[in-house]
Amino acid sequence: MNIKHPTEGVLAEAHAGLRVIIPKKPSRPVRLTDLARVWKDSSRIKLAMMNPFPGRYPVAFSIAHPQIEESDPLRFFVVGNARFADGKKLKWYFGGMRTIINPQIIWKSETTTRYKEACMSFPFEAPKKINRHNVVVIKYWTFLGPRTKKFYEERAQMFQHEIDHFHGVTLYERWKKKKR
Ligand SMILES: [Zn+2]
Repeated sequence: MNIKHPTEGVLAEAHAGLRVIIPKKPSRPVRLTDLARVWKDSSRIKLAMMNPFPGRYPVAFSIAHPQIEESDPLRFFVVGNARFADGKKLKWYFGGMRTIINPQIIWKSETTTRYKEACMSFPFEAPKKINRHNVVVIKYWTFLGPRTKKFYEERAQMFQHEIDHFHGVTLYERWKKKKR
């Protein structure tokens, strides 16, 4: 599906109105009847991701719907895809971002690595080291259809982080649990 250029109205809303929260409520799977909402809200997230965020992380690599929706969070997240090196800065463009819908981990490697992780729900927190599986196989949907793909290292880590958000688990809780 082609992504049309956003209207000015949507743009204004994204600049002014996207509030990233700490997600607590478990999300529910996306159904066919939710797709218009998924399209609208993922567009809002994409537009926000193209702009600098307040806090110590100016660029968001991915944002999950439960991070912007309190009452009826859905299982999808947006991820930046192509990287545009602009000096040292990463920049996403609208059409290069993907909406990942109902992702499920169907296989994970036994080996894990402690990765440094940050989260846009904690924009002023220093990165935390979190244990993640090195390789995962994920079943998910995009607006183009179903996918099953293997992800390695940082991508695998990112999927695990976002899937945690669907269950009200943040990196902060994982980190605290690990320390005890
Ligand atoms: Zn997060």
